[in-house]
Amino acid sequence: MKDTLENIKRLLTLLVKEDFKYFDRIKDPDKALLAMFSQLKPFLSGKRLSFINKAEKFLRNYRYLSEKDRKRFIKELHTVFVLRFSFDEIEEDVRKRKSEKLVSSSSSGFKEEKEKYPVRAFFQSPETVKGLNKFASSRFKKLGLETIFDVLFYVPFRYEDRTTVTPLNLLREGETALIKGKVVGIVETLTKKGKKLLKVILYDTHGKITLLFLQQRVFGFYKKLFSQAKELGKEVIAYGKVKRSGLSFTMVHPEVEVFEEKKNYSKVGVILPVYHLAEGLKQHLVRKDIEYVVRKAAPRFPEYLPKEIVGKRKLPSISRSIWEVHFPTSSIEELEEFRTPYQKRLIYDEFFLFQTALALVRKRIKEDKGIAFPVNEEMLEEFKKHLPFSLTGAQERVLKEIIADMKNSKPMNRLIQGDVGSGKTVVAAAAAFFAVKSGYQVAVMAPTEILANQHFKKFKEFFSHFGIPVGILTGSMTPKAKNMALKAVKKGYFKVVVGTHALIQEKVEFENLGLVIIDEQHRFGVKQRAELKNKGDRPDVLVMTATPIPRTLALTAYGDLDISVIDEMPAGRKPVKTKIIFDDEMEKVVSFLKKELSEGNRVYIVYPLVEESEKMELKAATDMFHFWNEKLKGFSVGLLHGRMKQEEKDDVMAKFKSGEFQVLVSTTVIEVGVDVPEATVMVIEHAERFGLAQLHQLRGRVGRSDRQSYCFLITKRTVGEDAIKRLKVLEATTDGFKVAEADLAFRGPGELMGTRQSGIGEFKIADLRRDLELLKIAREDAFEFVEENPELKGFDNLKDLMKYRFKGNEEFVEIA
Ligand code: ADP
Ligand code: MG
Repeated sequence: MKDTLENIKRLLTLLVKEDFKYFDRIKDPDKALLAMFSQLKPFLSGKRLSFINKAEKFLRNYRYLSEKDRKRFIKELHTVFVLRFSFDEIEEDVRKRKSEKLVSSSSSGFKEEKEKYPVRAFFQSPETVKGLNKFASSRFKKLGLETIFDVLFYVPFRYEDRTTVTPLNLLREGETALIKGKVVGIVETLTKKGKKLLKVILYDTHGKITLLFLQQRVFGFYKKLFSQAKELGKEVIAYGKVKRSGLSFTMVHPEVEVFEEKKNYSKVGVILPVYHLAEGLKQHLVRKDIEYVVRKAAPRFPEYLPKEIVGKRKLPSISRSIWEVHFPTSSIEELEEFRTPYQKRLIYDEFFLFQTALALVRKRIKEDKGIAFPVNEEMLEEFKKHLPFSLTGAQERVLKEIIADMKNSKPMNRLIQGDVGSGKTVVAAAAAFFAVKSGYQVAVMAPTEILANQHFKKFKEFFSHFGIPVGILTGSMTPKAKNMALKAVKKGYFKVVVGTHALIQEKVEFENLGLVIIDEQHRFGVKQRAELKNKGDRPDVLVMTATPIPRTLALTAYGDLDISVIDEMPAGRKPVKTKIIFDDEMEKVVSFLKKELSEGNRVYIVYPLVEESEKMELKAATDMFHFWNEKLKGFSVGLLHGRMKQEEKDDVMAKFKSGEFQVLVSTTVIEVGVDVPEATVMVIEHAERFGLAQLHQLRGRVGRSDRQSYCFLITKRTVGEDAIKRLKVLEATTDGFKVAEADLAFRGPGELMGTRQSGIGEFKIADLRRDLELLKIAREDAFEFVEENPELKGFDNLKDLMKYRFKGNEEFVEIA
């Protein structure tokens, strides 16, 4: 199938290449395509299949088509094949349709022991477990597992799925697969070298496979097993690595069992844990050792968490959770994503211990006294009165968290995380409003001038309802304007000051800065945040970000910031429809744009920054400007690029906002935060040159009203398969977290180092990217718990566990 697919793509590419240069030289492409289509069809279903059926009809009439129509048709075929016929996806689809699940009827066999041992008892060497294999402890040593506790919490890093049966025609060379089939032949023969060999041939309705056994001493056993199965017409299941010899598949020494409905399988039909190994260790032996210890010890492991928390979070018991991660009964999908309640319990615990330690440390450090803002419900109501919309549930929730923080005399240190367009600005504005109402000044810092200007306008308009003066401070202001602004800030005339980095310059002084707001936090360093904070006397701090970046997570883990998540879009928002378009089909885009524009919508057209030289960038941008001006005659087009003066930029932005410009041709200056709700189309040229996160940000510029919006990712036909794969992520989802995940997967683990914590923050099971929500609740619970019980009275097991977990760690020594 793979070959056929590649041949089809090759032929189509050849036909369309260099504007159909070779089109005439290729004889009867219709016949070749029809032949290959019929080979491909058995593997297709759904949309792909109906597309091919339609295409076949066309191909049968190909001879009668005009040359123009032929070309158009072939081009369309090429587009669809490149975008929708990836081998992996087709294969995945086939597997899903054909795979059969084999479920062992055995339960996990867990039985909770009533009588538990104290946690301390588990800090003994595993050798003390009666009946343990005498080589086990040396193996444990190699793995760094010194105590029973270590062994219990040595969680599998992945699982081996021996429950999904792969049909024989879908095997892939090199994979380890579970297969099922009837026995057709059992032969004892000789290898080329004259060694004895047992060959067993299995078949299912899709194909056949040969199982090979080379060790003579097992011949007898297997001959009996297979011939009985053959006589009774029973199927056999085998698990092993797939090899290819010539045209057929083989498995050498697979693990084999006779298939029975509802049977307790031991080797197949189960999901097995896979552990990290050390040099010279074998998986099946380590598995056996760990299994032995878990069976003996896990049921006696005591519940060490407060009962209230276990109840409130509906956590399964710790002993059962330990058991289940080693002997899973959940589905492989859940296990692989670490979504089973048992895995989650262990992740939660890991966070809980860490956060409890942090909370204790925090408690010990003398509590900073900050500002207790007299915020009340009326202020919130007053604020809402002048909003043109009602807040989303998520916005309300986050505001409640902020209000609680602000009321408290401890300085707020909060991060608001929310996808592009989720409405972070209004939440920030509310916080600013509360601070001003309480008699304090607010500083709002944004990473670019365009953004600072935008915030300035928004805040100014909003605060005008209350007669509250808002000022701006940016680097591009004239010295005179700047001086005036500085004075107004110092005298306390400006209650809210919006600005760029200019805000943290030495000269800037406030009368009484009470709240610091930082937008798009990832653009600033920790240092800059501190600098702005130092402009006041322990002001509250609120930072906002659209990017679920590793550093944010790291900061959380260090206990520096509390997190609020806005996980809901304003009502009526429709996901942006996203489509990959090849650059030779620009005319389609042009006519689409004309339609949207004539309906009163606005359009962005974005180019990647050309970095070679200033001149080139200018040229690229202006060329494009002329191109689009020509194409979209009758509509007004504006140009925005990095080489323009600030006033020019602001002017262009203002005109695009007001609708004087309907189209904005731009470099990526507009990437972050720009808000023009009337814009419904984002065209991104050379999309393959952008990173996924950046594309997501750009796309976030549209879809900011209840109108349907679109994003076109323009790229070349000849762009690599990897690039297409990346762009397809955006076609498939508008969820920023998913995009970020895919982004990390593409970029590889090297760049993930940002999430790694030094020392105390090294998590064994938890993954900060995946488990953010769990971290949040564990943190909440831990802080609340420590608040009520700073001595951890009555929780000796928990104390012991923390001592064990954090031993040798300076920062936590004292609490121990
Ligand atoms: P981001 O989170 O990306 O910074 P913004 O704060 O710029 O998003 O908000 C995006 C758009 O949605 C803005 O035009 C804003 O006025 C609007 N908006 C925010 N909250 C709501 C809401 N609750 N209902 C309707 N529109 C909203
Ligand atoms: Mg924003």
